[in-house]
Amino acid sequence: MVPFDFQLRTRVVFGIGSLERLGRLARELGFHRTLLVADAGVVQAGHAGEAVRLLETAGIETALFHDFGANPDSAMVETGRRFAEPLRVDSIVGLGGGSSLDCAKGINFVLTNGGSIGDYRGYGKAATPLLPMIGVPTTAGTGSEAQSYAVVADAATHMKMACGDPSAAARIALLDPELTFTAPRHVTAMAGFDAVAHAVETAVTVRRTPLSDTFSHRAWMLLSHAFERVLLHPADAEARAAMQLGAHFAGVAIEQSMLGAAHACANPLTARYDLAHGLALAILLPHVVRWNAGAAQDHYAALLNSPRRRARDEEAAETLARRVEDLASAGGLAMKLSDSGVEESALPGLAAQAAEQWTGTFNPRPFDAAGALEIYRAAL
Ligand SMILES: [Zn+2]
Repeated sequence: MVPFDFQLRTRVVFGIGSLERLGRLARELGFHRTLLVADAGVVQAGHAGEAVRLLETAGIETALFHDFGANPDSAMVETGRRFAEPLRVDSIVGLGGGSSLDCAKGINFVLTNGGSIGDYRGYGKAATPLLPMIGVPTTAGTGSEAQSYAVVADAATHMKMACGDPSAAARIALLDPELTFTAPRHVTAMAGFDAVAHAVETAVTVRRTPLSDTFSHRAWMLLSHAFERVLLHPADAEARAAMQLGAHFAGVAIEQSMLGAAHACANPLTARYDLAHGLALAILLPHVVRWNAGAAQDHYAALLNSPRRRARDEEAAETLARRVEDLASAGGLAMKLSDSGVEESALPGLAAQAAEQWTGTFNPRPFDAAGALEIYRAAL
């Protein structure tokens, strides 16, 4: 077995209605003056107002920052730093989908260590520890609340940068499935598919360990059984809870195992065509699973090996690819690249960009521009 050295850095508080505990948890961590980073949708849904009320009732001064978009970039992080600097906050609360949590972490880097977020690309480049943070996800998707990386796009190139540091991990992840009930159907589908892709990719990377496998496999089981249910019955509390835990577990798996070719191929599509991350993954993931078959068949078989589904090893990749296609269809995400305006002539350029993605280096089958081109062609 592969050796590993891993510590869960984030305390996890999970349960329906657990948002009520936000004020007390923040007090426990010694928060006095906090920056609440919440996207516009979360403000509109009333969750940000509720969080402010809970924090202020606990005696914590709270300033709300919401001036950023769906794929936070270095300029938005800089706007957040300028907003937060005069407030002299001692802590951060990230509330929302992955964009809120990544933006919160990005602001935390530049507020505590100066410079621009691009300076922290890679891992462990913060000289001063970041401010303590609580992460409260309102979608079941990125699992960003489980990770010590901020994923922020370069404002000039739109390419995603992963900026990590041990102290960037949230001190507490507060998982209240009730917060996900209000997400529109397409958000539930795209965020949920992102989590599915995290479970599938982390289960086969070259960095996977027995510990990350535990999280990948449990995540897949929870997500693949609950994905269709939350789309059919948005207020099904058990299914919502399964999605949120599954997304969190997949996030824990990423922290150790990283990701693979589907994410490497998805990033240039988001940068050039503004294709939503979850939709890009839904288009690509079945083709990546088939492309990886020779290198990852046993690991795909292990992923499928739940009591409900047993696949013979040699068929595992195809069985998994079809199951993933079914999930994409259920979410209204079953598309081809050409449906979203991508032309064949653009593929070599996209493939060259995909080959430069750090995340592709962890794919089980060695991944380069030629491989990326094969995957894009299959998905066209
Ligand atoms: Zn993702």
